[in-house]
Amino acid sequence: MQKEPNIIGVEFSSLGNDTFYSYNPATGTNNDYLFHKATEAEIESAAKKAAAAFQTYRKKTGKEKAAFLSAIADKISNTGEALITICCAETALPPARIEGERARTVNQLKMFAALLLEGSWVDARIDTAMPDRTPLAKPDLRSIHIPIGPVVVFGASNFPLAFSVAGGDMASALAAGCTVIVKAHPAHPATSAIIGRAIQAAAIETGMPDGVFSLLFDNGISVGQQLVKHPLIKAVGFTGSYKAGKAIFDAAAARPEPIPVYAEMSSVNPVFILPQMMHSKGKEIAAAYSLSLTMGVGQFCTNPGVLFYQSENGGFKESLKTALEQTKAGVMLTKTILDSYNAGVNERLAMAGVSKFAMGDESTAGNNLATPILMEVDNQSFDTAPTLKEEVFGPAGVVVSMATKKEMMEAAMTMFGQLTATVHGTDEELIEYADLLDILEQKAGRVVINGFPTGVEVSHAMVHGGPFPATTDSKTTSVGTAAIYRFTRPVCYQNMPQSLLPEELKNENSLKIFRMINGEITDKDIVQ
Ligand code: NAP
Repeated sequence: MQKEPNIIGVEFSSLGNDTFYSYNPATGTNNDYLFHKATEAEIESAAKKAAAAFQTYRKKTGKEKAAFLSAIADKISNTGEALITICCAETALPPARIEGERARTVNQLKMFAALLLEGSWVDARIDTAMPDRTPLAKPDLRSIHIPIGPVVVFGASNFPLAFSVAGGDMASALAAGCTVIVKAHPAHPATSAIIGRAIQAAAIETGMPDGVFSLLFDNGISVGQQLVKHPLIKAVGFTGSYKAGKAIFDAAAARPEPIPVYAEMSSVNPVFILPQMMHSKGKEIAAAYSLSLTMGVGQFCTNPGVLFYQSENGGFKESLKTALEQTKAGVMLTKTILDSYNAGVNERLAMAGVSKFAMGDESTAGNNLATPILMEVDNQSFDTAPTLKEEVFGPAGVVVSMATKKEMMEAAMTMFGQLTATVHGTDEELIEYADLLDILEQKAGRVVINGFPTGVEVSHAMVHGGPFPATTDSKTTSVGTAAIYRFTRPVCYQNMPQSLLPEELKNENSLKIFRMINGEITDKDIVQ
């Protein structure tokens, strides 16, 4: 039996008597790892260390922070088979998926390191003074993004690596110059512990302050709640359910000093198939949709849970039915997730106008498995049932047929905020349906043409966000380099002496970054 302590800066700590085991959802048995739930004293210690370390870490250069992120990436690359084995045992996800996710996590850290080394991300803006301007002299104004303070990150259940301890929230917060306390997800604590140790070692190796990173365990909500309410915490990153994300958002808003919560929560990621495309490629789209809906047992935030089409054609429905019926049942990440999947499906099947269209391969079904399902509903019933527009986390889809373009537009208009919206159409009909695209860009963080939303590229232009309830802040993304701005705030220096300005704002552009000087983007020095 391996006992895994909480990580508090450079220390390990297991003060609490309350313990829980790592669990294998496929076998229904405990894994050989025991965890101590963090105590109030440990939460306090992690918060105090994070606040003290912030005063040093925020002053680290881009090069120093990049070295830290690169060291984390290298250490995670070297976690070997041990990480894959325990991660598969905790999540029931296949080894290839975990290997891929590790590579993605490593590349994400390296991408933020490269961003820091290039340096222009700080969005330096300089308006030089005009002392002779009349009637009022113009001051010298220089602004830049600075880190917001200690951040709490909640590990997500469905991405044990890429959205967990060293995932996008953590990488972007560290890149911004924030210190981070992670609350590990109880669905994969042993995986979290391996990654936590890697980060701790990287921090020590690269000379980062004690408290730049802490990792606390809990298999309930109390540690997370205490962290969110702690006065030294200045922002929160979260991926998970609407219920938990909204509760955390509300707790943060009710603090004497409210803080931002970047919660990525709930999205059905609607797919619209336009008539000509349906006619020419209906069969292929059906098979690809079924794959996108059921991959990873449907446990993706970008899972395409609602599909709209106008006229059935090209063997679409037959192909969709066949593809889904051949899909096996699968183990979900946790029993709670499986229970809420089954409850969500049953609730919908009991609704007026909803019928079962296709079930996954029922010969593979079992008590601890989720069987994929497609439900069919008429437009009228869909329109009047808000529940059908809400996420069922897992391999469940709702197919809605529409008589006209007008109906499609109306359906798009009534959807809640989404992470993604997808349209399949020929070049000509995409132009004809430009008004549909116009609605969708107001509803979603990402509009996908002739593809599927699962598979979120980690890149500079990616937006993984969207209007509520997809997230609690539609102005941000939790994937890609722009995620860094969730953990910064702009500050402006007025008439600040050169010697006291941050390097990025001095007249001499020693870092050779791009800056906006009097409205012009340039990497030139200012000559006065
Ligand atoms: P969850 O219930 O949202 O929990 C995520 C994390 O938040 C866990 O660490 C949980 O702690 C904590 N938490 C929950 N309620 C809290 C509260 N009131 N205050 C403070 N912390 C709180 O997510 P989950 O356990 O991963 O899965 C449950 C459901 O979430 C799924 O069925 C699915 O609907 C949804 N989900 C959605 C996405 C997505 O990307 N859209 C991803 C994953 C899950 P404990 O677990 O320790 O209680």
